[in-house]
Amino acid sequence: MQIAGFDKLSLLNYPDRVAATIFTNGCNFRCPYCQNSELVLDIQDNELIPEEEVLDYLRERKKLLDGVCITGGEPTIQPDLIEFIKKVKDIGLLVKLDTNGSNPQVIKTLLDNNLIDYIAMDIKSVFSKYEIITCRNVNIDRLRESINLIKNSKIEYEFRTTVIKEFMTPEDIELIINYLNCKHYFLQKFEDRETNIISNLEAYTDQELKEIYNKLKQKYDYIQIRGIN
Ligand code: SF4
Repeated sequence: MQIAGFDKLSLLNYPDRVAATIFTNGCNFRCPYCQNSELVLDIQDNELIPEEEVLDYLRERKKLLDGVCITGGEPTIQPDLIEFIKKVKDIGLLVKLDTNGSNPQVIKTLLDNNLIDYIAMDIKSVFSKYEIITCRNVNIDRLRESINLIKNSKIEYEFRTTVIKEFMTPEDIELIINYLNCKHYFLQKFEDRETNIISNLEAYTDQELKEIYNKLKQKYDYIQIRGIN
């Protein structure tokens, strides 16, 4: 598997767990607000970390770790993702997968074979804005299929949206939440960083986001918010 980054220990990437984080190389979307642009653009220049080096570390530190978060880039475009995750599960660690949901067949295989313990799927916006945001042709049926697979799975999951003014009105947010009708949905504050693919995108202020959240929370008790003070 193409591994372009490895964080040996994090308390942030796998809820309530101590986990290592693996960053896969490459993504099939081009979201302008992507905070891992180095994993999306010019990926042929990235120095890859040998898979065995990562697995050896996980074997050595398995008593210190609860699990591994596999993120990207987009992990499900890696042809050998499933084989890699089997090796991590053989070590005895929990696996969390972060995905944009574009490859439901990979998600299904992982769920059917009990190879993941937590899945987080990004919801970019309402479906009608997906191609504007991702700058790619997007098969919406596949996204719907991934959402249904995840909602009907028995593992822990979350859906989440990074909220950017240009791409999402408060009405869009409500449409998404209403459509998902799920157990856990997070609104995430956008931060303008140097590593975004495009800079100077406009974030909602903390106050604006809180107001949107407070209004929606009254109707949808499964929403939560991240990244505001
Ligand atoms: S935000 Fe996620 S889906 Fe979008 S380009 Fe970045 S890694 Fe890919």
